Amino acid sequence: MYKRILIKISGEALEDKDTHLPYNPQTIDNIYHMVDEVLKRDIEVMLVVGGGNIFRGRISSSIGVDPATGDYMGMLATIMNAMALQSYFEKKGIVTRVMSALPIDACCEPYLRRKAIRHLERKRVVIFAAGIGSPFFTTDTSAALRAKEMSADCIFMGKNGVEGVYSADPKEDKNAILYKKITYEDIINKNLKVMDQTAISLLRESDIDVRVFNMNDTNNLVRILDNEDIGTLITKE
Ligand code: UDP
Repeated sequence: MYKRILIKISGEALEDKDTHLPYNPQTIDNIYHMVDEVLKRDIEVMLVVGGGNIFRGRISSSIGVDPATGDYMGMLATIMNAMALQSYFEKKGIVTRVMSALPIDACCEPYLRRKAIRHLERKRVVIFAAGIGSPFFTTDTSAALRAKEMSADCIFMGKNGVEGVYSADPKEDKNAILYKKITYEDIINKNLKVMDQTAISLLRESDIDVRVFNMNDTNNLVRILDNEDIGTLITKE
């Protein structure tokens, strides 16, 4: 069904909730298994990873850091996360390239679209780091942008313990319903907080679907690839 997919993993999902360390080793292992299963189905895999487990630009003013600097710090956090995943994946035998939107040559490759395509064709996993390389954006937007540039078939948004897109926050509203399928237009009209507006604007005119799913169950993504209707599918129409 799919040839090339992009998986968006928030930085927060990597955090160890008990120790408050930036990484939970079990989560990293779960992500590895998830990616490995996708590769076994001969599907090319790209990842965009966030940085919220280490730093988010929005807290910068509270520590006296100016907003643009804070956002660059956030982007650096995403590079650290990408390197952590790359290191683990390669230890397990999955060849992985980190491509950064900010030049940081000692650690990773610069993002070059044509080179990224080559990596994928050679069955390497590509992790896009540093968002889009500009402050005042988020990694949701970089997931949307890279998915479009790289002609991904679908973006898989792995959520932490949340099954998909709900009509209201399920933690606050017991009557919240889980949408099985919803359009980009409805996401905008109902003001649902799934991805930021810039990301939605980039995707709404494209043929790229977004599948929001609970990443805590690592089998979910593979079950979706095997045609099970899990989570929420966001489409153009
Ligand atoms: N960021 C940015 N430009 C981008 C992507 C990210 O400035 O293109 C910064 C921003 O400060 C953001 C931080 O990097 O708060 C981490 O990214 P994000 O909040 O999207 O991570 P997540 O919430 O997915 O962990």
